[in-house]
Amino acid sequence: MARYTGPVCRLCRREGMKLFLKGQRCFTEKCGIEKRNFVPGEHGRNVRMRSKVIGYGLQLREKQKVKRIYGIVERQFRRYFEKAARRAGITGEMLLQLLERRLDNVVCRLGFAGSRNQARQLVRHGHIAVNGRRVTIPSYLVTKGDEVTVRDKSRKIPVIVNSLQEVPGRGVPGWLTLDADNFKGQVLELPRRADVNMPIEEQLIVELYSK
Ligand code: SF4
Repeated sequence: MARYTGPVCRLCRREGMKLFLKGQRCFTEKCGIEKRNFVPGEHGRNVRMRSKVIGYGLQLREKQKVKRIYGIVERQFRRYFEKAARRAGITGEMLLQLLERRLDNVVCRLGFAGSRNQARQLVRHGHIAVNGRRVTIPSYLVTKGDEVTVRDKSRKIPVIVNSLQEVPGRGVPGWLTLDADNFKGQVLELPRRADVNMPIEEQLIVELYSK
């Protein structure tokens, strides 16, 4: 299935929470959730629709939510799950760790981009290097010790400059470190469950795929 390219605020409204898909706008009163916090569509204002979701529906919604947060399509998400299930440790946590290690997520979390969508574009367009080498694959998995930098010729791009200015407010997670003056970040360790800053119930996804 193709990647969703429609209005992203709709996705937040569908999940009933902020998924932070639009960078700085998500922190302002222009946020779609702040203005219209109900499910999009003709019957969206019927709040009871949301409270009725249980069992399979709940598991499905959780999976959709995580896919939307990280901007991943079903087939790719399923592959992450299978990879996580093969690893030692708690499958749900391994799944989140794999998602967090994606290069587009790291670029966003370091503050080089305002959203994962923006970060994905920066990576695709060749503005990002890992350990000194240009990497154009958003799904590239970083590992401990990796150095993620904005390439020299890209350091004046307004998106990057503006995003970096917002970092003090947003913060950088503990498993990464940022040297904003040199447009450089480093992976100190692999992310742990506590480093995922979104309310996710990964166990529901494990239950869904384990049926
Ligand atoms: Fe979601 Fe951001 Fe749109 Fe708010 S502004 S609804 S958080 S994408």
